[in-house]
Amino acid sequence: MTTGTSSCIFCRIVRGEMRAEVVYRTPTAVAIRDVNPQAPVHVLVFPTEHVDSLGEAADPGLLGSLLVTAREVAAREQVDRRGYRVVINTNAEAGQTVPHLHLHVLGGRRMTWPPG
Ligand code: AMP
Repeated sequence: MTTGTSSCIFCRIVRGEMRAEVVYRTPTAVAIRDVNPQAPVHVLVFPTEHVDSLGEAADPGLLGSLLVTAREVAAREQVDRRGYRVVINTNAEAGQTVPHLHLHVLGGRRMTWPPG
């Protein structure tokens, strides 16, 4: 499902209307550094096309490409061998605050389990 994208902050970043530290791009995805990092490496990967959440994502190809992009970001950030975590918060109870599908790529410190 796509909703109005004029006020969506990630759509605004895709359009160049809002500043962000872009670390990697593909034709279908953008990777930016999180403004409130929860680990030494904290990058957000999201599709250039607006999709509200994982639950609304209908294209398996898009979902696969986002995972490949997250893996590439981890390699570029040099956490791939040590280890990293990819998180998709989906809807309110999971803590999704930006209603545009995004993957958190977290690394650079030892992760705990279970997550909070
Ligand atoms: P979530 O809570 O899973 O929806 O994640 C949203 C993430 O977006 C949070 O970690 C925020 O710190 C991050 N965030 C919000 N606005 C921006 C922004 N303008 N640039 C970079 N990261 C942002």
